[in-house]
Amino acid sequence: MTKYIYAFDEGQKSMKDLLGGKGANLAEMKHLGLPVPDGFTLTTEACIKYLEHGSKLSDSLMDQLNTQLADFYERTQKSFSSDTALLLVSVRSGAKISMPGMMDTILNLGLNDDNVKKLAEKTEDARFAYDCYRRLLQMFGEVVYSIPMASFDTYFNQYKIKHGYQNDADIPAEGLQVICDHFKEVYIEEVYKPFPQSPIDQLTEAIEAVFKSWDNDRARIYRELNEIPHDIGTAVNIQEMVFGNSGEHSGTGVAFTRNPVTGEAKLFGEYLLNAQGEDVVAGIRTPKDIESLKEQMPQVHQQFVDVSKRLETHYKDMQDIEFTIENGQLYLLQTRNGKRTANAAIHIAVDLVEEGVISKEEAVMNVEVKSIDQLLHPNFDEQSLKQATTISKIGLPASPGAASGKIVFSAENAKEQAEKGNKVILMRPETSPEDIEGMIASEAIITTHGGMTSHAAVVARGMGKCCVTGCSDIEINVIDKVVNYSGGTLHEGDVISVDGAKGDIYYGEVSTMKAERSEAFEQFMSWAEDVAKLQVRMNAETPQDIQTGYQFNAKGIGLVRTEHMFFGPERLIEMRRFILSDTQDKRINALNKIQQYQMTDFEEILKLSGQRPTIIRLLDPPLHEFLPSSVEEKNNVAQQLNVSVRELEQYIESLDEVNPMLGHRGCRLAITYPELYVMQVEAIVKSALRLKAQGIECQPEIMIPLVSTVAEFTILRAKIVEKIEQLQQEAGETIQYLIGTMIETPRACLIAGELAKVCDFFSFGTNDLTQLTFGFSRDDAGKFIGSYSEQGVLENDPFQTLDQDGVGQLVKMATKQAKAVNPTIKIGVCGELGGDDKSIHYFSQIDIDYVSCSPFRVPGALLSTAQSEVKGGRLHV
Ligand code: PEP
Ligand code: MG
Repeated sequence: MTKYIYAFDEGQKSMKDLLGGKGANLAEMKHLGLPVPDGFTLTTEACIKYLEHGSKLSDSLMDQLNTQLADFYERTQKSFSSDTALLLVSVRSGAKISMPGMMDTILNLGLNDDNVKKLAEKTEDARFAYDCYRRLLQMFGEVVYSIPMASFDTYFNQYKIKHGYQNDADIPAEGLQVICDHFKEVYIEEVYKPFPQSPIDQLTEAIEAVFKSWDNDRARIYRELNEIPHDIGTAVNIQEMVFGNSGEHSGTGVAFTRNPVTGEAKLFGEYLLNAQGEDVVAGIRTPKDIESLKEQMPQVHQQFVDVSKRLETHYKDMQDIEFTIENGQLYLLQTRNGKRTANAAIHIAVDLVEEGVISKEEAVMNVEVKSIDQLLHPNFDEQSLKQATTISKIGLPASPGAASGKIVFSAENAKEQAEKGNKVILMRPETSPEDIEGMIASEAIITTHGGMTSHAAVVARGMGKCCVTGCSDIEINVIDKVVNYSGGTLHEGDVISVDGAKGDIYYGEVSTMKAERSEAFEQFMSWAEDVAKLQVRMNAETPQDIQTGYQFNAKGIGLVRTEHMFFGPERLIEMRRFILSDTQDKRINALNKIQQYQMTDFEEILKLSGQRPTIIRLLDPPLHEFLPSSVEEKNNVAQQLNVSVRELEQYIESLDEVNPMLGHRGCRLAITYPELYVMQVEAIVKSALRLKAQGIECQPEIMIPLVSTVAEFTILRAKIVEKIEQLQQEAGETIQYLIGTMIETPRACLIAGELAKVCDFFSFGTNDLTQLTFGFSRDDAGKFIGSYSEQGVLENDPFQTLDQDGVGQLVKMATKQAKAVNPTIKIGVCGELGGDDKSIHYFSQIDIDYVSCSPFRVPGALLSTAQSEVKGGRLHV
């Protein structure tokens, strides 16, 4: 019989697949002897079974639940029906991968009309008992019967106003009793049935609701956003309640063992006295800094400090811990690796290595590749900031970044505006999981309520999105769509700027500056480099981009797209003269002029690269891309080239192609006009020779694009080599160079063994290779890839993430064939996939030597290659 339920002391941290993250860690903490209230976990397998078989908990699960409950009563010496030792439990979901705010929680389960009286008697605190009951009625209604939150909240808030109560804690027992009675009526009004009085019915219904909530919309959206599989299910944790709302010596809180924003090695957290867990997370009351616990409860504070250290050392990472204090006694309700900003991730990883807690390899695994992007986020330009008008400066810096946009007040509106191409800032009193799509669509999020662990803060940080919370000196009125602040009123559509690293808000647009990298970043990246085997080069041609790539430690240039150098006006006209020439002599004349420009460019590029390999791709796009299209431009060009507009138009028409991407481009151009490549090669070699004369050695690697036959390559290679030899002879000097090809057509993959005999290197152009393997136009596929992902035709956009089954197989086969005949051949990937984490993981398992991507993707790619190495190294094909 499959075991569907594990008591906490039967599990351990390695059982996350089965017990979920929360369940596995509760079990681990129990084993460590930490103060964890007792409980048990229903497995993810039980959830998957339930969702597969529909609407009922199976007999086998029910049998196990009854047995487990009997044991649980025994262990705790409490029961749901005891007069003196009443058992109340929490029911919480917990998937393998943490999904904050996505799934539901029910507290105080087991209370009913009788038990609430028993609780009141036992604790001699009727207020506390009815406060627990009203929370259960509310949470159970929302989670299990989908009763709108507002049906409870509106009454609760009106009751407070009517009786002049400022805080929830001011409502006396009698008031809470009235509220409970009203909440029970809400059940009848909304779902036509009463609140279940039997604790066992409550428990089974709650378990079913948690299982079902795995499939609710917000959970699905979160999983899609975070690439979490839909079929792994959630576990359910049933745990004895401890009460943070049982007076002023009780409380509840959330704390990180280090600062999740900066990485500083200091406890960082918040707590509320006389409160239950949801109060802190929901951001309804503003919590206190964990530091003040030192004064309020010094012993508990010290115990918490010790526990934090122990957990961090045990898990070898910064922990995010939920705790409750009941009458001066500390209890731990959860620990997990804490979410953090990229900056904090780097600092924490570096500090943990330096403190001897983890190795370099472990440090590399502790930083998410996608978070590296956050480090490269812009900041506001200081000068521009000085002139900006402040709206607020007291918000909490919940998630870093700098963004400007138009104000919107609802998630729907944010989505709608973003779809129209507008940059928007979502402003809400607080956010809830329903707002997730609007948060994704926004540039930044601002809330007036809530702290650093509120929903908005946690979710935005996870997304790497700029966010300011607890901005309590402004009033966000979502009904009238206005924001009141000390300096006036803002309306929907007004532009504001948000600094998520400082918590500041400004009126109007503030200009931004590139991010600066810290010493810790450099240290961390150097460890990533030590660990990585697969090299990372950059795709770049401008000096600025090349410098950026080298600052990020790119190992060379994997792709210089030379066509990008033809678009300056003085070059373009010569290129047009070349295209419109009717004899080879005229063409060569035009090319000689272009060559001068190319030499300056190549000299600059090769000088910046020095000894690092630099792949220069010879001209690739179809010629008509260089010709004018508007009437005005055509008139100008005709005049400059001394031809009639009619003649020019006729020529443009003659170059027109039905499928230009399949047409006269790449090496096909040079088979027709060899002088084109000869001119480019001459420019490369002359530049290299000039540099050599200045004492600068360089390593140009000349790349012929779009080859699909061996003859295309050998014919062009022979012409190129002839030119190079002639130039070397004239100069009486030699240079180092390689000649290779791009592998961009399926045919080139199929004959890779033959090509490898005549090529010094290969570079997979996965943009064209994907286009030609699928037969999807790379320029138009966006029109249908969305429907393909929605309907599950394709898991990913193959232009962004390698299609391992098709394109990946071609790359693997071609690599294997090439290395078999030419073991020293260097093989790289220079399409967009060269900067994608999942694709890099695949490339690092086959015999690829390097990936190449745009300069800003270099650090992320470097980390991907290091992580691939730690995860599994190479599977030689
Ligand atoms: C490719 O096809 O992958 C490539 C890098 O070349 P381009 O994108 O310039 O066609
Ligand atoms: Mg290409």
